[in-house]
Amino acid sequence: DTIGADLDRAVAAWPDREALVDVAGGRRWTYAEFGAAVDRIAGALLGSGVRKGDRVGIWAVNCPEWVLVQYATARIGAVMVTVNPAYRSHELAYVLRQSGISTLFASLAHRTSDYRAMVEEVRADCPGLREAVYFGDASWEEFAARPSGGLVPEPLSADEPVNIQYTSGTTGFPKGATLSHHNILNNGYFVGEMIAYTERDRICVPVPFYHCFGMVMGNLAATSHGACIVIPAPSFDPAATLRAVQEERCTSLYGVPTMFIAELDLPDFASYDLSSLRTGIMAGSPCPVEVMKRVVAEMNMTEVSICYGMTETSPVSTQTRRDDDLERRTGTVGRVLPHVEVKVVDPASGLTVPRGTAGELCTRGYGVMLGYWDEPEKTAEAVDAGRWMHTGDLAVMREDGYVEIVGRIKDMIIRGGENVYPREIEEFLHGHPGIADVQVVGVPDERYGEEVLACVIPRDPAAPPTLDDITAFCRDRLAHYKVPRRVEVLAEFPMTVSGKVRKVELRERYRE
Ligand code: ATP
Ligand code: MG
Repeated sequence: DTIGADLDRAVAAWPDREALVDVAGGRRWTYAEFGAAVDRIAGALLGSGVRKGDRVGIWAVNCPEWVLVQYATARIGAVMVTVNPAYRSHELAYVLRQSGISTLFASLAHRTSDYRAMVEEVRADCPGLREAVYFGDASWEEFAARPSGGLVPEPLSADEPVNIQYTSGTTGFPKGATLSHHNILNNGYFVGEMIAYTERDRICVPVPFYHCFGMVMGNLAATSHGACIVIPAPSFDPAATLRAVQEERCTSLYGVPTMFIAELDLPDFASYDLSSLRTGIMAGSPCPVEVMKRVVAEMNMTEVSICYGMTETSPVSTQTRRDDDLERRTGTVGRVLPHVEVKVVDPASGLTVPRGTAGELCTRGYGVMLGYWDEPEKTAEAVDAGRWMHTGDLAVMREDGYVEIVGRIKDMIIRGGENVYPREIEEFLHGHPGIADVQVVGVPDERYGEEVLACVIPRDPAAPPTLDDITAFCRDRLAHYKVPRRVEVLAEFPMTVSGKVRKVELRERYRE
């Protein structure tokens, strides 16, 4: 169905239940109020000349207006282009031109970012941009009050595009995955089904909306089940997140692993009442076993789910189930979602490998994107003639149907002819008492081709583990070719704004 029709159903079924809470701004909307606010913005879009198929950009940190614009653009069949709030003017200009944005919604400013100044800077180079509206100043109030001029939304089909979402840019320049109503609404719905959302659930969403994790697994999973979206803060803040869970009695909490680590490591962690939590989602990058154990035991998230996915597949392909044991919930990314197919192939031959053998994960089903916006060649490289998405991720399909992600094909280290999977070593080093977080990358080496480098964030910055400490820790427990030969101590990792470590950057930094 279309996103607008699905929202209408939620408004009819649960008019008085809360749909959206903005903790920082102290504002809240019931489903009836939310539906009415969305209709008002949809009318304002029509009254401003935005039509079905037009690209509407959104370049903003999390706020309730973001969610209103998401559903209002969907309602009129406009294509919302989500722009990473960490982008600066140069990248903004690329996205504005690449996707042909005519109307842009943006934050006014956040922390040190002056979004309005950056928009003004690129305006002359982006003649397609007709109008910019800023959340938090008079331009938004003025926009929201515009009459529709009697216009109503055109008839829509669920197979038409509703979003362009740029990939995280972990491995290179982001690509604009073009997604339909059918793609993302189904994905949000099924992800919510797997964690048994009902209208009683309250979902704390500290992950950015501009990415599928926030807008699909968060917003669409919530509204397709009558649940409530709780926005703890404009951008990730561990203390504000736990405070929101406590004050809003959230039942579900989202995050990439590094966010959960930051929350668990808060000095006053034990003082938060997290007893309302039952579930949540950890996704986006490998989830260390130790972190998962603490999330279950100390955050009360006994039914927490691991999801695996990518922007191009709307995003989730596999997910753990509520009754999975800790082994499955830590050792795997779950099993395939309903109506999704997964296969593991030899990247060279394209043939399916036996269960238990590593290969490239390919996935097919309702989630596979329409294509990369205006990049037919890149689309053809990623999605084959049989509509299989080639993910670029290495995976193992186990006998029990659960999938293990071994790493990205591009991150695999080949040391002296041996394949080394950074994930396995990271997992192992997380057990070292002096290590708070760790990333393993391959760096060029004359003798072995590549050598294993561990980038370590120490628990105690005054006493970081040395190479000798780490070598001793690995001895007799890890094959010799996997043992890191170099250690770099860092205060933090280079991250994408969706909270992923940019391994490419670490590799570049230490390649000399
Ligand atoms: P780009 O494609 O621009 O380089 P990206 O692949 O990081 O960036 P996303 O679509 O945001 O962009 O992320 C999808 C990728 O994240 C997957 O291909 C996979 O490598 C990784 N990933 C997602 N979920 C998990 C998970 N649960 N465990 C391990 N890796 C995961
Ligand atoms: Mg990718």
